[in-house]
Amino acid sequence: MRPINGIYFLLFTSIILSIVYLHYGVTQTHTKLTDNFEKVFVEQAGQFATNIENELSSLLDSNKTLYTVLKENPSIREDLERGMSFLVTPSFKYVYLLYRDSRGKYRYLLDGSREDKGIFNQKLDVDKQKWNRCYETGKDQILMQKDLDGLWVTYLKPVVNQERVEGVIAIDFSTSLPTTIAEATKPIENIFLYIFAAIGILILILLYQTILNIRTKKESILDPLTGTYNRNYLKHFLKSINPARYQIMMIDIDHFKKINDNFGHKAGDMILQQVAQTIKEEVRKEDRVIRFGGEEFLVFLHKKTLECSAAQEISFRLKERIERRTFMYEDTPIHITVSIGITSNPEHFKDVPEAIKHADEMLYIAKREGRNKIIFDVHKKSVQNSAQKSISEVKEAIENDRITCYYQPIVDLESAKTVKYEALVRMIDTDGKIIAPYLFLDTIAYTSVYSELTKRIIEIVFKQIKRHRIPISINLNLSDILDNMIFAIITDEIQRNIDLADRLIIELLENEHNSDIENLRNRLIELKSYGVKISIDDFGSGFSNFSIFQDLPIDTLKIDGSLIKDIETSKIAYTITESIVLFARKLDIECVAEFVHNEAVRRIVKDLGVTLGQGYHLGKPEPEIEQKTLMRMASEISA
Ligand code: GH3
Ligand code: MG
Ligand code: MG
Repeated sequence: MRPINGIYFLLFTSIILSIVYLHYGVTQTHTKLTDNFEKVFVEQAGQFATNIENELSSLLDSNKTLYTVLKENPSIREDLERGMSFLVTPSFKYVYLLYRDSRGKYRYLLDGSREDKGIFNQKLDVDKQKWNRCYETGKDQILMQKDLDGLWVTYLKPVVNQERVEGVIAIDFSTSLPTTIAEATKPIENIFLYIFAAIGILILILLYQTILNIRTKKESILDPLTGTYNRNYLKHFLKSINPARYQIMMIDIDHFKKINDNFGHKAGDMILQQVAQTIKEEVRKEDRVIRFGGEEFLVFLHKKTLECSAAQEISFRLKERIERRTFMYEDTPIHITVSIGITSNPEHFKDVPEAIKHADEMLYIAKREGRNKIIFDVHKKSVQNSAQKSISEVKEAIENDRITCYYQPIVDLESAKTVKYEALVRMIDTDGKIIAPYLFLDTIAYTSVYSELTKRIIEIVFKQIKRHRIPISINLNLSDILDNMIFAIITDEIQRNIDLADRLIIELLENEHNSDIENLRNRLIELKSYGVKISIDDFGSGFSNFSIFQDLPIDTLKIDGSLIKDIETSKIAYTITESIVLFARKLDIECVAEFVHNEAVRRIVKDLGVTLGQGYHLGKPEPEIEQKTLMRMASEISA
């Protein structure tokens, strides 16, 4: 409950309590008033009854009973009844005297009442229990009349002669008094009735409002199309969870755009609904399914124990189910697949949004590796405890212009002159320290920060080329060329500097197996059409294979440092280098030897026919290009 609601709640409760208290006060007053009047009346009745009893006592002696005296003297009866009738008022309705006959029935001796007057010896049905008590105890009794119409209380007084009860005087109070009191308090009580009714209605309205609120709240966190949670819910959910308790799964429908294009948007919607339904069926009740984007679902899988991992099983089952299923749209069968990226330890990330981003990166790899795949992040370890920079630190560095390049010369081994430079990216830390790329490139791989960094590097390098008009190479992955966004950034920057494009060399590294060779070739051809040169980096290590030269338009290859480093001592390294050089020469591809770290190595690679070299022996990476070299290069290029 928010504090403002709390205050209203408190106010409302205290108002209700005050009203209840007031109402209680009024009812109490009513009762007290009635009780007091009752006391006064009873006292008065007692007095009247005593007077009558005194009158009767004077008639009695030890020889005759009250019954006999009154039976024999109708004139005395008449006098007494007249006297009793003087007591009758609207409040004292009936005043009479009864006796109990030998069969236990009560009969009239006297009646001073003005209406319903009983005659001598006439039977009267009474509450025998109370009346008998008068006979048994010889004491006054007070009788509350609940059932008799118009009567409130009856005062009973036994007439005792020679320690024997010979009759009972009864005085009935009418209800006129309590009715008057009730009438007096009724308007006030009515007011309370209205207030209570109003409060009741108010509570009903509030209840209705609350239900309505809950319902709209529920609607605002649900995606109307699929019934899964939406991003509003995600915001709340993130506040409440312990990341160590979850695994994060990002699911995206493959080539979904084609479904819309081929079968229409309605079919797309239907597929979305059914995929969401399938996901919901596969997960457990403690898991959360969120529609993260158009056809992207984010799933939080709960870990029952910290070691438990449901993601593997659930993601596999889900992928299989969707792949095998035929979705029917009208009469058209549609088949789809999904790609899934998983973060299994969200707690290893700075925060949950970073962990989600990481699942998205895994999804991205799944897409690139041909779709209909699950990529688990188990191989990717936490970056928290090392000197690794976080994504946000790199992002900040880009925004604050703390990205720079070092330049390492590439030297003609024959003339020992620098012919071009390789730009090597560096990040400047907040304290001015220079950070090597291996400490931040891995972290930002597959994120939008990587694209931003690429853009920044190309900008910096073009600035240098513009300033010094010399050839400079930059490093990219083959997968960067296949990435639509990064490729667009590259071509955009090149087109912006089209007159300098022939000084740009792109060194490509084969980081993963790439299936889409056709696309790759077309894009490299496009780059070459601007004048850009293409180089294959680190050739002879990792994934590199010779067939790539058959498929792609390559100008230069750089022989991997691991071969050159050992070339003095390793026969194998020497032989592999030899065959690479031979192969390159036949295809008219220029060779660069990396890692030329001493004079002996320089001589060996030069003798093998390598024309260009790079390494500490020839020149270290420096933040600025040497002025002397620049001037010489400038004069040579213009000549
Ligand atoms: P990939 O395999 O790389 O994921 O390709 P894709 O075509 O699935 O991905 P892309 O992101 O290019 O296209 C997603 C499409 O999803 C684009 C958008 O029009 C469509 N889409 C997004 N939301 C909805 C929706 O609510 N209903 C329908 N029918 N289509 C949607
Ligand atoms: Mg998709
Ligand atoms: Mg390189």
